Amino acid sequence: MASCSRCGKAGEKEPAQGKARSLVTIPYEQGLGAGRILVYCRECWTEMAEHIAEVIPLEMVSPSVLLDLYRTGKTTSDPFTACQLVFGHAEPELVREAQALIHSHCG
Ligand SMILES: [Zn+2]
Repeated sequence: MASCSRCGKAGEKEPAQGKARSLVTIPYEQGLGAGRILVYCRECWTEMAEHIAEVIPLEMVSPSVLLDLYRTGKTTSDPFTACQLVFGHAEPELVREAQALIHSHCG
């Protein structure tokens, strides 16, 4: 289970309510859509809610959900780092696909 990017709480032994992790995107600049992917516990994203664009419970995040964030321009986060954060490891094929989606927005 991924630990919180902000407070570092792992909470693997207490997957109870309030300890669940969520994928969040934090826009690099206010008002711009593309954000950085991080994993926050409920406490942290509640505190940071005004800075966060997207919140997706980690158990709902599949590779296709992650790719959708890239496809829709909601993130330009480094795919390798993002995959490690969210899935605990970076699948090379998934990283490549996400990179291609980032580049498709640049041209
Ligand atoms: Zn936290």
